[in-house]
Amino acid sequence: MAKITHIAAISIPAFSHQASILEFCKRLVHLHPNIHVTCIFPTIDSPPPATISLLQSLPSSTPVDHIFLPPINKQDLPQDVPPAVQIQLAVSQSMPSFRATLHQLHSTTPFVALVADTFASEALQVAKDISLNLSAYIYFPPSAMTLSLFLHLKTLHNQVSCEYRDHKELIRIPGCIPIYGHDLPEHFRDRSSISYDLILRLSKRLLSLADGFLVNSFSKIERVTAIAIEEELGKKNTPVYLVGPIIQTGPNSDPNGPECVRWLDNQRPNSVLYVSFGSGGTLCQEQVNEMALGLELSGQKFLWVLRAPSDSANAAYLGAENVDPLSFLPRGFLERTKGQGLVLVNWAPQTQILSHSSTGGFLTHCGWNSTLESIVMGVPMITWPLFAEQRMNAVLLTEGLKVGLRPKFNSNGIVERDEIAMVVKGLMVGEETNGIRQRIRELKDAAADALKEDGSSTRDLFQFGTRLENLKRGHQTFDGL
Ligand code: UDP
Repeated sequence: MAKITHIAAISIPAFSHQASILEFCKRLVHLHPNIHVTCIFPTIDSPPPATISLLQSLPSSTPVDHIFLPPINKQDLPQDVPPAVQIQLAVSQSMPSFRATLHQLHSTTPFVALVADTFASEALQVAKDISLNLSAYIYFPPSAMTLSLFLHLKTLHNQVSCEYRDHKELIRIPGCIPIYGHDLPEHFRDRSSISYDLILRLSKRLLSLADGFLVNSFSKIERVTAIAIEEELGKKNTPVYLVGPIIQTGPNSDPNGPECVRWLDNQRPNSVLYVSFGSGGTLCQEQVNEMALGLELSGQKFLWVLRAPSDSANAAYLGAENVDPLSFLPRGFLERTKGQGLVLVNWAPQTQILSHSSTGGFLTHCGWNSTLESIVMGVPMITWPLFAEQRMNAVLLTEGLKVGLRPKFNSNGIVERDEIAMVVKGLMVGEETNGIRQRIRELKDAAADALKEDGSSTRDLFQFGTRLENLKRGHQTFDGL
């Protein structure tokens, strides 16, 4: 019987990253049944419920198991920094327990490699502990464009001396569509911030410690970028594998599921705009009002996942507040739009909604998972970036791939109701919609091709697995000497 190749994987305490790496592991072991993965999850307070249901849905025969590290108390993290920074600090604080866990597991079932989420890159250092000496790979849930930016950061940092948002010229990231400084990720907003410092350090770690990169993207949209990254790395043998689109495929146990599918079943094909801002995106009160009135004004059908407003765009990223979001809607809105729309509270079965034939558009915050899910289901987008690298994704979608429309924000950072109504009508029934729908159909087909048995992403993932199995053979030869 063939020997098992054991690897470890580490994610970060954020549902979308955990879901993505779990799905990646499922695919890897499907192609290489002799690989066994142990996923290790740092935790803030307690694991996200959506992650727990994903883990529970894994068949017991799947060779992917998991461990939650002792939780970091959210109250003990600095409260005056963005959730993304809190998450990274929690990962840092989890490194001692991660190291102890990895060493302990390794002593009974030796690992050959570690796969780490980008934002758990400190774990690469642990993998290189002399007594472990593991190969260390990065699983990169966002786009190859974002990876290219991170790896190019040292050059950019030296080239640009002002704040990036004040830089007048377009910024050129290897293999990517040029972008303006104000569209760089939120970490780049203030060069003296802890966020920027964390990204600089992350970039150095990736360059010096990663033995390869697994990116959740696919050939048709980002092969050029992957090639440019390999050139930028300049080192042979630091491959960049495009293994996506990796999206959630688990069964859906969302309590809102039956209601919204029933509602969608009663709508015309392609007639509904789905409005959602990912697992934790929030709008401020003024924007909630404008959104409600803009959707109403558009006259188009909508299905809106509503959260209680907040002045911080990712306020619900580490858990939503216990208040009723419906109470923040403009007076009379729900009654007036009864036949026009459905408002769901906090969470919805997104992939189910996007794959429904009545869904014809997605107003999205452009999180990379949402972006890929929309592409896979062939749903054109209205791009409404909020935080992280979502502005870059919006540029890629609207200017690069041309499968979305981007509304204009006013000088106070609000999209007004008339603009919302205009862009919603534009996407759902406007002149541009035919071209956009044709292009997203082509991307949908290309995504499906990439995942076929002989598709580019399947080949890349298979090659990666083979590399792991060869490492195992190398270890055995070494052990046998
Ligand atoms: N999601 C969902 N229901 C919701 C909101 C989000 O199932 O109501 C899922 C969505 O399908 C996607 C993930 O959560 O897989 C969000 O990931 P993304 O990268 O788009 O955004 P993030 O949550 O990281 O901001």
